[in-house]
Amino acid sequence: MSMQSLYTVPAEIAANALVNNEQYQKMYQESVSNPEGFWAEQAKRIDWIRPFTEVKDTSYNDQNLYIKWFADGTLNASANCLDRHLATKGDTVAIIWEGDDAAEQRTITYRELHADVCRFANALKAQGVKKGDVVTIYMPMVPEAAVAMLACARIGAIHSVVFGGFSPDSIASRVIDGKSKLLITADEGLRGGRKIPLKANIDEALSRPDVTTVETVLVLKRTGGKVSWTEGRDLWWDDVVAAADANCPAEEMGAEDPLFLLYTSGSTGNPKGVLHTTGGYMVYASMTHEYVFDYKPGEVYWCTADVGWITGHSYMVYGPLANGATVLIHEGIPNFPSPARMGEIIDRHQVNILYTAPTLIRALMAEGKQHFDGFDGKSLRIMGSVGEPINPEAWRWYHEVIGHEHCPIVDTWWQTETGGILITPLPGATDTKPGSATRPFFGVQPALVDNEGNILEGATEGNLVLLDSWPGQMRTVYGDHERFVLTYFKTFRGMYFTGDGARRDEDGYYWITGRVDDVINVSGHRLGTAEVESALVAHDLVAEAAVVGYPHDIKGQGIYAYVTLTKGTEPTEELRQELRQWVRKEIGALATPDLIQWASGLPKTRSGKIMRRFLRKIAANEITNLGDSSTLADPSVIDTLIESRLNRA
Ligand code: ATP
Ligand code: MG
Repeated sequence: MSMQSLYTVPAEIAANALVNNEQYQKMYQESVSNPEGFWAEQAKRIDWIRPFTEVKDTSYNDQNLYIKWFADGTLNASANCLDRHLATKGDTVAIIWEGDDAAEQRTITYRELHADVCRFANALKAQGVKKGDVVTIYMPMVPEAAVAMLACARIGAIHSVVFGGFSPDSIASRVIDGKSKLLITADEGLRGGRKIPLKANIDEALSRPDVTTVETVLVLKRTGGKVSWTEGRDLWWDDVVAAADANCPAEEMGAEDPLFLLYTSGSTGNPKGVLHTTGGYMVYASMTHEYVFDYKPGEVYWCTADVGWITGHSYMVYGPLANGATVLIHEGIPNFPSPARMGEIIDRHQVNILYTAPTLIRALMAEGKQHFDGFDGKSLRIMGSVGEPINPEAWRWYHEVIGHEHCPIVDTWWQTETGGILITPLPGATDTKPGSATRPFFGVQPALVDNEGNILEGATEGNLVLLDSWPGQMRTVYGDHERFVLTYFKTFRGMYFTGDGARRDEDGYYWITGRVDDVINVSGHRLGTAEVESALVAHDLVAEAAVVGYPHDIKGQGIYAYVTLTKGTEPTEELRQELRQWVRKEIGALATPDLIQWASGLPKTRSGKIMRRFLRKIAANEITNLGDSSTLADPSVIDTLIESRLNRA
């Protein structure tokens, strides 16, 4: 292969990293041979009110399933993110905020953030919010979103953040599921120059007859746009805060008391209400944040995820703030008003660590390198990726154009359900291979199993499972423990099933091949979607690709590819043939797409993941019953794809 496939740890990174390869091996070994001792030691990174005496109490037996960590300890998550930093880091910047319009800038120190959280927590109490209540948060990307979350945590309320791009129906179903009495929102949000009518969406959601629990709506004034008002229910954020006391002691919470509730992205079906608890989650989020990003005090850390996703919870709020980090929050999208924005933000704030998603990298790649001509980027040290398999071509582009070939890339595999990163390189320890999430984090025991649940050894491919619990694992599906057991623990007994497929190479590195449900079976050979898509994306004229199987008389399944071309490229029959030959050459004859449909856009979740379940139906010419599309970012994409579908048999 002409292209570089192994990137060794840069010497200066290894020399100064928290963990080098030797230490990784030693710590990993200890973490799996003596989990009790390992986690008891690691849990010291969190301030406990009453120390725990029990460490791990978990059972993956589907007849009697329970997951408890540090169960008799008590703590408060907000105190861990704020109070404990005041003595030494009160004046350190906790949040740097840049508005959708770059002219708007704010910085908030730990002392200021602590004061804001205490006041808002008292305001919540004054509205009758108590320990154990579910509070729904539907906010734009402003520091107050973090304030709202931490204020809930401070008084023991369970927050349920709903992404600010979701529709009234999605809000309603989540409010109903959580039986929320109080909702926190803003008049409007701002994203890419567009105003998002947050308050109006809330009004519409609450007007549905089946939404009966909400008594109070707290509204932050963000844009000053006109909103309608329900007297007796709606209150301005500023008013309730002005009336609130500044002193708010943190509630003593049990380690297994719920911290938050959050729904999965809905790529594969109806979103699941994932419940995370306090002690184990905090230990795991803060530890992974520090080690995976090799975080050093004083560094500026930027995570581009929205607070409405798990990445925004673990790696924008709880992990970094528990570590006393300086977190950059950007209100808008990193390619607005132009693709140069991302580089400008990095340079303006001297960002050291960047954590983003393949969908954004592919979007920037399609726009061209020239947007980074004026980009300096010298401050950058470590870069991360999350959300989907990153195509090797996108990985290399990220490494070269954003990272100037010297920043290690951590391709982090995890899920809403896992609370934190499970498979990932560590910057100072792991040589990387583009497209591979590489090795397990401490305490994580991945395995590959066949369809009968037999564990496969060595270099092989199979269903990705986890053999034992880690502290950040979800505890249940909110209000539906049976669904929890059924979804994750019944497919392969005694194991947590991720729903993803993976390949393990001769170095023990893991390569996520895609969702197991998406695997294509061509003439008896199994093909992961990720591999074929990455081959297509590797072609210069392809910006993005999604591949699915469809019924084929001879092969069982044929390969159907949806391809988005780079800006200005003509979709011709010659190019179609060229792409088929290209994939054939890259992977082999078996992987040659049978049909290639040109797609100006692909259906994605609002977090930017490709939703193949719609594409599968269109490819199979089953267009009458496509299923729930409420989590789609742009439902109109589907109609366009149906219109120009190629298989009309
Ligand atoms: P749902 O469970 O409702 O279908 P979802 O799985 O998209 O939604 P998330 O929890 O946001 O919801 O996403 C987790 C999934 O994202 C993983 O199971 C995996 O398929 C994919 N993923 C995340 N990070 C990576 C990565 N680094 N490499 C490959 N795949 C990844
Ligand atoms: Mg999932």
